[in-house]
Amino acid sequence: MSIKVENLTYKYMPGTPFEKTAIDDVSFEIKDGEFIGLIGHTGSGKSTLIQQLNGLLKPTSGNIYIDGECITEKGVELRKIRQKVGLVFQYPEHQLFEETIYKDVAFGPTNLGLSAEEVDERVRRALEVVGIDIEKYRDKSPFELSGGQRRRVAIAGVLAMEPKILILDEPTAGLDPRGRDEILSQIKRLHEEYKITIILVSHSMEDVAKLVNRLIVMYKGKNILMGSPREVFREVETLEKIGLGVPQVTYLARRLREKGYNIREDIITVEEA
Ligand code: ADP
Repeated sequence: MSIKVENLTYKYMPGTPFEKTAIDDVSFEIKDGEFIGLIGHTGSGKSTLIQQLNGLLKPTSGNIYIDGECITEKGVELRKIRQKVGLVFQYPEHQLFEETIYKDVAFGPTNLGLSAEEVDERVRRALEVVGIDIEKYRDKSPFELSGGQRRRVAIAGVLAMEPKILILDEPTAGLDPRGRDEILSQIKRLHEEYKITIILVSHSMEDVAKLVNRLIVMYKGKNILMGSPREVFREVETLEKIGLGVPQVTYLARRLREKGYNIREDIITVEEA
């Protein structure tokens, strides 16, 4: 499913002395099946933006269209939007609450009023996607799992709702390198096999740049850069200025600049060499 964001602005506590513009006139389009990296430092507006994409927050102004349908006008059923747009919050494992892994993943689809067989099929599929062996783990408590596994079960809970768009907010936060690699490779697989639209939110360029088709770079509530990782990396100076440069690229750019090269063009040649 596609997403279109038009002149979106979000203000916290508008009209008070504490007013804070968290999203400032942001526009972009995401095509069906794209894998997007939404990147920016803490406080750049990433969470505020994604909560509007599934209707949790209502924009101060501007519009959002999901698959051509405006979700920001009055009278839109939020439940329907959330079925289409699955949002995996930061540290989603903190929201696991059922006594078994099976029940936790089954919770959402059960509430959709599906039959037991349909629920079972969804739970199996979702756990399979995140690489959790259902036979081994179904009746275990989430608390018997490692941190990375718990997070994968929490992600399976969102996947079991079979969203057409999946947004993951810092899915690797707090995991060790192994847990991080596991989660990222499962997400990659999810995109390749199921072709759903994915937005991966991160403050780490290195985590996302090698996975995604396109990057949206946020800075102080604005969408300052957008394009393929290659196109975005070309803007080394901007990335450096906002502290999002990839160290190796920044280092190479500095060396080339010292030698009198025009880095905007030449850095790409270096990458390809
Ligand atoms: P990110 O997800 O990139 O870390 P956020 O969307 O959380 O950024 O925050 C964007 C800006 O909005 C920040 O300046 C933050 O302090 C502010 N902000 C976030 N949540 C609230 C809130 N509930 N009330 C007031 N300001 C907020």
